[in-house]
Amino acid sequence: MAKKNDRCSFCGREMTQLYSGLDGALICPECIESGHRMVQESIAKQVRGNGVDNLSLDNLPKPQDIKAFLDLYVIGQDEAKKYLSVAVYNHYKRILQPKSEDGVEIEKSNIVMVGSTGTGKTLMARTIAKMLKVPFTIVDATVLTEAGYVGEDVESLLVRLLQEADYNLPKAEKGIVFIDEIDKIARKGDNPSITRDVSGEGVQQGLLKLLEGSVVNVPPQGGRKHPDQEFIHVNTQNILFICGGAFDGIEKKIAQRLNTQVVGFAAAEKTQRIDKKNVLKYIAPQDLKSFGLIPEIIGRLPILTYLEPLDRAALRRILTEPKNAITKQYQKLLAMDGVRLVFDDEALDYIVDKAIEFRLGARGLRSLTESIMMDVMYAVPGHDGSVDAQLLNDGVFTVTKNFAQQQLAKADALRLQNAV
Ligand code: ADP
Repeated sequence: MAKKNDRCSFCGREMTQLYSGLDGALICPECIESGHRMVQESIAKQVRGNGVDNLSLDNLPKPQDIKAFLDLYVIGQDEAKKYLSVAVYNHYKRILQPKSEDGVEIEKSNIVMVGSTGTGKTLMARTIAKMLKVPFTIVDATVLTEAGYVGEDVESLLVRLLQEADYNLPKAEKGIVFIDEIDKIARKGDNPSITRDVSGEGVQQGLLKLLEGSVVNVPPQGGRKHPDQEFIHVNTQNILFICGGAFDGIEKKIAQRLNTQVVGFAAAEKTQRIDKKNVLKYIAPQDLKSFGLIPEIIGRLPILTYLEPLDRAALRRILTEPKNAITKQYQKLLAMDGVRLVFDDEALDYIVDKAIEFRLGARGLRSLTESIMMDVMYAVPGHDGSVDAQLLNDGVFTVTKNFAQQQLAKADALRLQNAV
C-alpha cells in the first residue's frame, strides 16, 4: 500500500490507494481497470479479425477467447458464457473438420438457454455472431405457425438469414439463428386436443426438420410458397440454432423433480445441498419435456444452460461496464458536441433503484437513462441553457441524483414501463 503523497506511476495522480509492483512502481485502481480492459480488447481484436470465410482450425477462436469477447459486452452469466463458448467452438470445429475415415461424426451442438426475460440471452447470441462475423438473425417463435396457417412458416427464418447474408448461400449456411421465446410453442396440455395445435406442437414439428439438419426449400422473397416459384435449397446442417426462453414456472417442475429424486436414501443430506433460491441451475432436459417441448426437439438441442436473474450489483455494472454501455453511448454523443458527460455514482445507484422498483430489469436501464437524458440531449448541443446551468461547468455536464430525480418525475412511469 502507498504512503501519503504517493503518486500512481502511470497516470501520475496522487492517491491513497495504490498498489506496488516488484520494482517499486505504483498503480492506482483506475489504471488497473483500464489496463485490464486494454488486454481484453486486444484479445477481442485478434479474434474479430477473422470472418467466417477466413475461419480455419488454426485461427478458430478458442473457448477462452470467445468468453473473453462475451465478457466485454455481457455482465455476469459465467456459466452460460462457458457453455456457449464451448458449444460454438465445437460447432465451428465440426464444420471445419477434415473428412475422416474413422467414422466418428461430431454431432451438431444446438443450444437452449433458459432464463428470465432481459437477462442477456439475445445479447449473448448476437455478440457471438458479431465476433465470428457470421450472418445472424433473431426470430420470435410466437410468430411461427404450422405450414398453411395464418402466421409465418418455419422456413421464413431461413429467408431472414439469407437476407442477412446478402443471399450468399454458403455464408448463410454457416450462420446463427436465434429463436426467441421457444417456451411459447410448448404443447398446451398433456392431452392431444381435438382442435389442432397449430402454433404449439405443430411448430415444434416444423422446427425439428431445421434443427436436425436438412435441405429446406425456401422461397427467395419470403412469403407463401407458390408451386411455380423457384426455390433456394438451404442446407441447415451447419447452421447453429440458439434457442432462448423464460420458461415461466419451470422452477416448480425442477423443484418437483428434485424433491422426488431426493426421497429415500440420503435424502436429508441431498436436500441441504440444493440452492433453493436458484433452482434454475439444476435444469435438466426432462424439465423442458414436463414444460411441453417434445422429446425430439429436446434431443436436437443438446446444450442446455441457464441465465441467472440480474441482481442490483449486476444492473449497476450493466450501466457502465459493457463496451457499449448506455452511459458510454451518451458520453460519446455529447463528446461530439464538445461536452464531457459525467454520471455521479449516486445518480447511477438511483437509476438502478428505479429499474428494480418498476420491475423493468436490464431493459429498463436504457429507458430510464433515456428519459433522464432527454432534456440534456435537446438543450446542450444548441447551448440554449434550459437545462440546469449549474450542472454544466467548463464543458463538463454532471448528472446528479437530484437532476435524475427531477427528470424522471417529469416522465410518466407508465410510458417508461411500456418503453421496455
Ligand atoms: P433476453 O434475455 O430477454 O434475450 P436481452 O439479451 O435482449 O434479454 O437483454 C435486453 C437488454 O438488456 C440488452 O440489450 C442489454 O442492453 C441489457 N442486458 C441484459 N442482460 C445483460 C447482461 N447480462 N449484461 C449486459 N447487458 C445486459
